[in-house]
Amino acid sequence: MNIKVPDFISSISPYVPGKPIKELEREYGISNSIKLASNENPLGPSPLAVRAIKDSMTELHRYPDGSGFYLIEKLSKKLNIAKENLVLGNGSDDIIGMLARVFLQPGDEVIIPKPSFLMYEIAVQCTGAKGVYVPLDSLCIDLEAVKNSITSQTRMIFICNPNNPTGTILSKKSFENFLQEIDQDIIVVIDEAYIEFVRDKDCLQGIDYANSADNIVTLRTFSKAYGLAGLRIGYCITKPDIANLLNRVRMPFNTSVPAQAGACAALDDEEFLNNTIQTTHQGLDYLYESLEKMGIEFFKTQSNFFLINVKQDSKQVFEKMLQQGVIVRAMTSYGFPEYLRVNSGTSEENQRFIKALKKALA
Ligand SMILES: *Cc1c(COP(=O)(O)O)cnc(C)c1O
Repeated sequence: MNIKVPDFISSISPYVPGKPIKELEREYGISNSIKLASNENPLGPSPLAVRAIKDSMTELHRYPDGSGFYLIEKLSKKLNIAKENLVLGNGSDDIIGMLARVFLQPGDEVIIPKPSFLMYEIAVQCTGAKGVYVPLDSLCIDLEAVKNSITSQTRMIFICNPNNPTGTILSKKSFENFLQEIDQDIIVVIDEAYIEFVRDKDCLQGIDYANSADNIVTLRTFSKAYGLAGLRIGYCITKPDIANLLNRVRMPFNTSVPAQAGACAALDDEEFLNNTIQTTHQGLDYLYESLEKMGIEFFKTQSNFFLINVKQDSKQVFEKMLQQGVIVRAMTSYGFPEYLRVNSGTSEENQRFIKALKKALA
């Protein structure tokens, strides 16, 4: 191609999503597959959300309310923070992109623990800024190493809490010490895509700093615990000054009519949320117990997914699981070539996963 493209764009490796169920079934000519690869909600979407989405369909000839008035109002009440502290996104991915557009330019540095969520790297690279990768320490984000990687070019730091793909968290205390020691003109993004699943009471919660810190942006999503990954809706909690900047680069109609309606209803569906969390915790405990019996190494999580060490090329194990209609994620592209990441499903799905893993490792 003769068309000139910036090097920082042509060098981006595209995001590789979990394999869709329909694609697997097409390729392998099988049916009844299960997917435990993208940390989705095994209970489906919230029924209240589904009803609200259906009801919203008669409004599809209208543009959405670009300000997301009702959803922002509902979130504001629910979270007990001002509306000015909130910005909506087409999934939290959209907000990661907005943050990059607002704060980054070529030459800037962004600290990204590794491995973590791959979208951070892509969003940063799109702006020509440079990702500075800091290895985890025993699967945990290493705040000391992050701090030591800060230079005068550092503009942003990504903290995924719980971290995808390791499921580890940072304590409130360790984060507060870190925050005190860094310059307050560096944006700290706390990605809480899985915060609803955390069992550890000492876990950092970004919302605690919504009004105190000037430089924190906390990302939340309806894609996981609320079961609405296909709807594309998320939000962030931050200082009004930052919210204002994000709204300048935000596409005016970034969240759709059904997305706003569905998210509002999902917030009311506490029964569904509680059921999701309980199902996940019971599922994880079952999986832990089964893997222990099999003598397989795994790493306990604060999220709805966790890592398993298969002590061989995980792509081959992944492939053998696919043949049995079970989709998991090989961690090769995350730099863990012998690890699988799996999320807890329904109890039937979890049993099927264990069976398939036994067969794949036999
Ligand atoms: C799934 C996930 C998200 C959610 O992205 P959406 O765009 O809201 O669907 C964000 N961050 C992490 C770490 C995730 O794993």
